[in-house]
Amino acid sequence: MHYPIKAKKSLGQNFLVDGNVLRNLAGALDLGPEDTVLEIGPGTGMLTELIQPVVGRLIAVELDRNLAGILRVKFFNCPNFTLIEGDILDQDPTTLSPGIPLRVVGNIPYYITSPIIFHFFDHRTCARDMALLMQKEVAERMVAQPGDKAYGILSVFSQTFSDAAILMQVPRTVFHPRPKVDSALVRWTFTTARSCQINDEALFRRLVRTAFNQRRKMLRKSLREAFPLERLNDIDLTRRPEDLGVMDWIDLANRFVE
Ligand code: SAH
Repeated sequence: MHYPIKAKKSLGQNFLVDGNVLRNLAGALDLGPEDTVLEIGPGTGMLTELIQPVVGRLIAVELDRNLAGILRVKFFNCPNFTLIEGDILDQDPTTLSPGIPLRVVGNIPYYITSPIIFHFFDHRTCARDMALLMQKEVAERMVAQPGDKAYGILSVFSQTFSDAAILMQVPRTVFHPRPKVDSALVRWTFTTARSCQINDEALFRRLVRTAFNQRRKMLRKSLREAFPLERLNDIDLTRRPEDLGVMDWIDLANRFVE
């Protein structure tokens, strides 16, 4: 480490300390001079210092006041760098660079992985793509297919709103302090190819959530309280949520829209 930093567990601080892995990661992000980048949780700026020189603009959001102080000093002379000291979940990313699609990146705090992902799914129209490092088992959910154990709400949303891929695996040994889990880098490239077929997105989300909240139950049971199933005489409601692919969810949701 370049700075005598005591990592705060409560803020999910596991710093990337391996130069090779940092370089591979920065390369995998595939950033260039046209890009406006939003980095979540830059920490001491080890990844930041690799990407700041090659991108058009870099906006970094860091919650830890001490780290924010370090970043201000480190990037003092960089006009393309903006630091926001605050909680990423309090930011409305649509206001950060209106009209220019963001490229969202980060070795994020793992304790809020799902909230961060859902936050950016909600605001995905302002982003071109998002590449985040996360626990490997969580990464696998993004690309899981019907029938896989990891298949769930995050799989359906990821594959509805984006093309999702795991770009690289990162072992626990390259972080300080060393976490108990291995990591992987996921990239979501946002696309409307599938989501534009959804007639009512709020209903679609509610349907998927409701079904997976009781993932072992047949749709007939998990949905009957909240959805008018009598409209669906021709659909096999003995299936369970893990049996339905993304297009099945979209078709099913559209059946409830007048
Ligand atoms: N990207 C750095 C640090 C990763 S650790 C590296 O790779 O070394 C996660 C970082 O997210 C920490 O710097 C932590 O302070 C920050 N963080 C934690 N909660 C946050 C929040 N809600 N909003 C923004 N940053 C947060």
